[in-house]
Amino acid sequence: MSVLNKAYFHDEAAAVAKLESTIWPEGPICPHCGSVEKIYSLTGKTTRIGLRKCGNCRKQFTVKVGTVFESSHIPLYKWFQAVYLMASSKKGISAHQLHRTLEVTYKTAWFMAHRIREAMRTGAFDVFGNGGGTVEVDETFIGHDKTIKPEHTKKGRGYHHKHKVLALVDRETGKARSMVVDDLKAKTLVPILKERIAKEARIVTDEAGQYKYLNRDFADHQFVRHGIGEYGRGEIHTNTIEGYFSIFKRGMKGVYQHCAKRHLHRYLAEFDFRYNAREVDDPERFAVLLNGITGKRLMYRDSLAGQSPRTVM
Ligand SMILES: [Zn+2]
Repeated sequence: MSVLNKAYFHDEAAAVAKLESTIWPEGPICPHCGSVEKIYSLTGKTTRIGLRKCGNCRKQFTVKVGTVFESSHIPLYKWFQAVYLMASSKKGISAHQLHRTLEVTYKTAWFMAHRIREAMRTGAFDVFGNGGGTVEVDETFIGHDKTIKPEHTKKGRGYHHKHKVLALVDRETGKARSMVVDDLKAKTLVPILKERIAKEARIVTDEAGQYKYLNRDFADHQFVRHGIGEYGRGEIHTNTIEGYFSIFKRGMKGVYQHCAKRHLHRYLAEFDFRYNAREVDDPERFAVLLNGITGKRLMYRDSLAGQSPRTVM
C-alpha cells in the first residue's frame, strides 16, 4: 500500500466524499439558500455523483458548486493527484510532467497547476519579527525579465535584466515570504520592509547598500559582510534565508526554466507554501492545500481569465 492507493486518488465517488468531508465537516449545506436541513442525496444510474437536492429551495447541487472544481471537466480524483504532487514535490513539478502523469493535455495541466498555486497564496500577511524577533532579509535574481528592454541593460552588469525577488524569514516562527520587486533600490525595498516587519524586530541582511539605514526603522540591524569573506558571527547570519533561496533556485532552474514576470508571484507562493509547511508530512500538506483551495472558493474564479500557457514551463 502507498499514499497513492487511497481511493480518492482514483475513484470519483471517493474523491467527492473526501471533498464533502473537507467542505462540509458538519454535513451538507445548500449553496443556494444556506439550508442545512432536509437535504437529500439523489441516486440512480444516470445521476451525477454526489448530487443533492435541497428540501427548502428545491434546487439541486453537488459539493463542487462554488469551488474551482465546479466548471472543470477534469475528474476530481485527477485534481487530487495534481494537488498531492504539487504539495509534496520539494522543487515543484512542471506542467509537462503533470500533463504526462495525469494524462491530461498540456494546456489543462498548466491551468490546473496555476489554479493550485493561486490556492497556495495566503491573502493575509503576518507581520514578521513581532516581539523583537530576528528577521533575515535577502534578495535574489532569477530568469530573464523580458519586460526590461535591452537598451536599458548595461552590458557586463549581470543582474539588471533578471527578475528580482525579495524574501524575508522570521527566525522565530520559521516562516518565509517572498515577493517580486521591480528593483532593489532602498526607496522600493524599505517601505515594503516597514510594512511587513515589526519595528521592534532585529534585521539581519548582507552589506548591500539598499539596507544601509535600516537601523532608523527597526530596533536593530546587523550586517553579514560577505564581501570580506564573512559568513556570520553567532546569531548574525543569513543562513536561513539562503537555505530558502537555494530550494527556490534549484526548483526554478530545474523545473520552471522560463517564467514570465506576470506569473512569477504564483511560483513564489508555491515555494513559500511548501517551505512554510515543511514540518508536516506530505499527506498533511495535501490536506492543508485542499483546505486552502476550498476555503478560497469564488474568490479567484477569473483570476486566470485570458491567460494562456504561452511560455513553456
Ligand atoms: Zn436550498
